[in-house]
Amino acid sequence: MAELTGRVALVTGGGKGIGRAIALSLASAGADVAVAGRSKDALEEVKTAIRASGRRGEAIVCDVTDRPQIDAMFGQVKSALGDPLILVNNAGIAASAKLTETTDEMWDQIMRVNATAAFYCTRAALPAMLSAGWGRVVNVASIAARSGAAYIAAYAASKHALLGLTRAVALEVVTRGITVNAVCPGYVDTEMTDRSAAYIAARTGRPEEAARKILEGFSPQGRLMTAEEVASLATYLCSESARGITAQGIVLDGGSVQA
Ligand code: NDP
Repeated sequence: MAELTGRVALVTGGGKGIGRAIALSLASAGADVAVAGRSKDALEEVKTAIRASGRRGEAIVCDVTDRPQIDAMFGQVKSALGDPLILVNNAGIAASAKLTETTDEMWDQIMRVNATAAFYCTRAALPAMLSAGWGRVVNVASIAARSGAAYIAAYAASKHALLGLTRAVALEVVTRGITVNAVCPGYVDTEMTDRSAAYIAARTGRPEEAARKILEGFSPQGRLMTAEEVASLATYLCSESARGITAQGIVLDGGSVQA
């Protein structure tokens, strides 16, 4: 399904985990892909894999909380590959704490990475999409964008904000050939979930394997989702076949969140 041949994509947080899987999936669908994040080595590895698949790839070091770095990132993508008409706002961080133990710094950093950075990147990407009359924005949200849970107030607030951004921007550009959607996964088998399991183990004294089972149990399917499943959904949303899907927050969690 080489439906994205000739399209240029930018994936934030594309060096590992879900972002890496999305970058490789978009490349296998034919897109040229730039990946951005803070860890150069991881980004270079993904760039090499994209190029090995026969597409153009670019690795860009960028902290998405820093707007000047975002402006520079868009300049770099444009000069290396062309304007990105596919934007995947995937970079994200998570932390777990009671609200009374959530510090100002924790709140601010989570909001900046998970919500504000997506605003910066979408604002920077839209003019080229509007000129082209075609664009795809996929925001990697979470089931925490669709329902609350204890001890993740900052994370849930940031992901609800990301879904609100998704829905509002989608309608702003709805007649211009641009779709804007969010994918809302449950727990996915990545380093982020490894850290969550380690945190639960440390807080409860349970072995890490038992902590992992708790996370698997949040899904009625009794398992973690895979980064590749999220990537397939994101890639589909970028396709022509998905042009009628916009302003959605699509859940991929094995049946837990249903509305
Ligand atoms: P990882 O921790 O494996 O990867 C996070 C990615 O975000 C890394 O590539 C990291 O790159 C990047 N990133 C973090 N902070 C910044 C920053 N300031 N600037 C640029 N890049 C940054 O997590 P996942 O792959 O699991 O998560 C990806 C997305 O999926 C996140 O938005 C997360 O909230 C969401 N998600 C994850 C779920 C899960 O269970 N894992 C479930 C639902 C949603 P680097 O460190 O190089 O900067």
